[in-house]
Amino acid sequence: MLHSLLRSVGTASRTALLGSSAGTKTILARPLLKARWMSSTAGKPIECFAAVAWEPKADYWNNALSVEKVVVQPPKSGEVRVKVTHTALCHTDAFTLSGEDAEGKFPCILGHEAAGIVESVGEGVKDIEVGDHVIPCYQAECYPEDQASDHCPRCRGYRVGKTNLCGKIRPFTGSGVMASDQDSRFTAQKDGSKLWHYMGTSTFSQYTVLHAESVAKIRKDAPLEKVNLLGCGLATGWGAVWNTAKVEEDSTCAIFGLGAVGLSVIEGCAKAKAKRIIAIDINPDKWEDAKAFGATEFVNPRDFDKPIQQVIVEKTGGGVDYSFECVGNTDLMRSALECTHIGWGQSVIIGVAGAGKEISTRPFQLVTGRVWKGTAFGGFKSRSQVPELVDKYLAGEVKIDEYITHNRNLTDINEAFELLHSGKCLRCVIWMGNDAPEA
Ligand SMILES: [Zn+2]
Ligand SMILES: [Zn+2]
Repeated sequence: MLHSLLRSVGTASRTALLGSSAGTKTILARPLLKARWMSSTAGKPIECFAAVAWEPKADYWNNALSVEKVVVQPPKSGEVRVKVTHTALCHTDAFTLSGEDAEGKFPCILGHEAAGIVESVGEGVKDIEVGDHVIPCYQAECYPEDQASDHCPRCRGYRVGKTNLCGKIRPFTGSGVMASDQDSRFTAQKDGSKLWHYMGTSTFSQYTVLHAESVAKIRKDAPLEKVNLLGCGLATGWGAVWNTAKVEEDSTCAIFGLGAVGLSVIEGCAKAKAKRIIAIDINPDKWEDAKAFGATEFVNPRDFDKPIQQVIVEKTGGGVDYSFECVGNTDLMRSALECTHIGWGQSVIIGVAGAGKEISTRPFQLVTGRVWKGTAFGGFKSRSQVPELVDKYLAGEVKIDEYITHNRNLTDINEAFELLHSGKCLRCVIWMGNDAPEA
């Protein structure tokens, strides 16, 4: 109801409405922090607006989220409360919202591709201060102390460095709670009901609480309305190429699915100086974008009456060196594996398939040297490596702006999901202060 009310007023009055709500302690018009070490809201609950997912909805693009007031508790030990300035939508949010995600826990606050400013920190947080600019990371990264003291089940002893999938807080972020008390920091203002966290990030809220392990501190001259994209999609695509596949100069690559992640894979392959970069999608409109990001040729599976893997094998004289599945379709995963070259071809699964789905191929494909792998967050260690990606962007080495096709206010977040669903949107950035530039 509030949502329809907000939609019915103009941008200016909408901002005023949000900014002046009785009982709101801070929020929209708060000037940048005056004191570095303390903010006026530290230690107190904050009322602010969030897009709440009360229940899963199969047609996630059809007004599934309710923009309403929530109460965000102060950070407890080892936690950080962040004012989210910008968040983008990712297909994983849509996937969970649709009810396909086995880990989805409702009601909750979704969102995981964001940037913001630290409002306050809990006890024991050493490396993050009020006023720091940060990117929340759904894939957390523990500290050297955790590794030394055997606190992390995945980053210790001979395992150090084998994976970016730190296990220290994963059981909690996977079940929608904070580690210190296994509870949530969010409630709905209207009736006090508990709202669960999502991926340890919950960035569809003007304020969120994160584990310190999930917070990448970045330089302050980085535009938050752009670098929020480094929280998921782009890092995933580039990392799949550079960290997981380790594509070499002169190699031949095939990319299945040309959304934002697929395009960032193409960009990564171009940076790695691959010779042929074959972009594959059933929508021919995607070719122009793919070319702009570095693809050298386009293949539409609908133009052929034989399996796409056969088409690619024939086009490349035996198969590609590397392929990337960026859709989450298990049939396509098979095609991606089978279009790689005998002896050394590698296929990387990036897309997230629905709960219960399984992949298949003939074992002969693997016996003869093809390798099937997957990647999460592109193999990047979040806290330590996301700041390096920010540096790369500011040095002009990687694109971000070109992936942002839309900007919307928090009040219009459902419209943003509609855009994502339509396939016409690469990334839509949500301006949490309802200060999006006019489209
Ligand atoms: Zn994502
Ligand atoms: Zn760890």
